[in-house]
Amino acid sequence: MTARHPVFRSQPTDPAHSWARLAQLSGRPALVDAYAQEPVDALIIPPDRLRALLIAEAELGERIMRALILRRVGLIETGAGGPVIVGQPEDGDVLRLASFLSRNGHPHQNLDSRSDPEARALLERFHVDPGELPIVLCPSGELLRNPTEADLARCIGLVRPIDSNRVYDVAIIGAGPAGLAAAVYAGSEGLSTLVLDCRSFGGQAGASARIENYLGFPTGISGMALMARAYNQAQKFGVEMAIPDEATRLEVAPMSDGYALRLINTERVSARSVIIASGARYRRLDVPDLDLFEGSSVHYWASPLEAKLCAGQEVALVGGGNSAGQAVVYLASQVAKVWLLVRGQDLGASMSRYLIDRIEGLSNVEVVKQAQVTRLEGAQGMLEAIRWQDGLGEEVRWPVRHLFLFVGAAPNTDWLSDSGVILDAKGFVMTGADIDAHRRSFETSRRGVFAIGDVRAGSVKRVAAAAGEGAQVVATLHAFWPSTAAQI
Ligand SMILES: Cc1cc2nc3c(=O)[nH]c(=O)nc-3n(C[C@H](O)[C@H](O)[C@H](O)COP(=O)(O)OP(=O)(O)OC[C@H]3O[C@@H](n4cnc5c(N)ncnc54)[C@H](O)[C@@H]3O)c2cc1C
Repeated sequence: MTARHPVFRSQPTDPAHSWARLAQLSGRPALVDAYAQEPVDALIIPPDRLRALLIAEAELGERIMRALILRRVGLIETGAGGPVIVGQPEDGDVLRLASFLSRNGHPHQNLDSRSDPEARALLERFHVDPGELPIVLCPSGELLRNPTEADLARCIGLVRPIDSNRVYDVAIIGAGPAGLAAAVYAGSEGLSTLVLDCRSFGGQAGASARIENYLGFPTGISGMALMARAYNQAQKFGVEMAIPDEATRLEVAPMSDGYALRLINTERVSARSVIIASGARYRRLDVPDLDLFEGSSVHYWASPLEAKLCAGQEVALVGGGNSAGQAVVYLASQVAKVWLLVRGQDLGASMSRYLIDRIEGLSNVEVVKQAQVTRLEGAQGMLEAIRWQDGLGEEVRWPVRHLFLFVGAAPNTDWLSDSGVILDAKGFVMTGADIDAHRRSFETSRRGVFAIGDVRAGSVKRVAAAAGEGAQVVATLHAFWPSTAAQI
């Protein structure tokens, strides 16, 4: 077996057919091959012309965009196209790679190295040692042995080299709701815009099984679905995406009136202005040996991928906030039982009423209040049981193979050290009047550097608030530029 693009054959009777795919919006490699069986007239529309068409012809643009999205969804659902991951389904590295591709909306296939005959044939053909698993066979035919996400992204054309000579109007760090909203508004107003994210688009919102409080979606919408729309919308307006690419340093660009961003892969990005939308990352639990079980048994994310691993089992989930509540509601529909361990005595102190009501109506959820996890037990990265201390100080041992942690988040601002951007005592970025009375909204202590969303001190930690700040900051950018010159 070889990894190939799925093939679509055009029938001679087809009057006119469009073979465009979503990747074409950004000029990335196609996920399918098309072969004509008869002579055909082909009209090749380059990415920039396609984007211009989508914007100029609103109705036609809507139909084309819908078709592109549905085609991508079809590829993901059927597992057609994209790289093939070969390994044991419960292996932490298989989950890491599959989760990376899923979160980036990239089709892929998983083959079980123990039972799948095609997987075994591949391992023999490429002389793969069991210690080298998982392997990934890319559509180009290249074989990767337990690659990093960055190596995999490069192999499948998800991320490309950045032109270090180009000066973008704006560089946005973070592709969560705040960063994507800023990208959509900046792109739609004709600003040359680059968005960087070290993991995937969607940020924390992408982890939400169902967002029910976002304006305009009365039946709720999954975080991934909402964020994928925003990601595609930004690309429609010509925004460039560099995912995964991590910003490690912000500095004043030499000999210019802008900024330079250093990336983890030693690349450099230049921009006239910078929007920090790097949000927050999950907190880890302070319990011994946690790292031994992360990746395979301890999860910070409750998506269909994790739900499949836990199907029919009992699981434990720690956390008392809305993100924990949503995960409980989702997991309860997929697993035998959810043990919800909360530190406090009252869920109402940290969780919205609608989620509490929903949890109370679920017969397979047991809420344990005043519980503190004390130990994890297991072998070879697989959890066998957890121990917690209850409100009376007694230790309880319960056999579970999967533990979900939703215990809050800390700001992603380590990369801003030495940048001159002032942070508050908890590490959030200070902006506007909190710095001085003449500072523009969202502007940090560096002129032309703005911060929005969860990373900003004092922000409301909600998807709608993050998206609203993304829209607002672009207006502030316009006010900033005419007066730029001097004072960076
Ligand atoms: C499970 C869960 C469920 C939630 N449910 C809801 C809900 O129902 N309703 C609601 O309103 N809110 C909800 N929230 C909160 C909401 O998701 C956040 O408030 C929102 O995502 C914040 O958006 P943001 O863009 O500011 O940051 P984030 O979403 O945190 O995005 C930041 C992005 O920046 C990237 N990044 C960080 N550092 C770097 C770097 N150095 N270089 C490059 N990239 C970097 C990260 O990878 C990330 O993708 C939920 C949160 C979670 C975790």
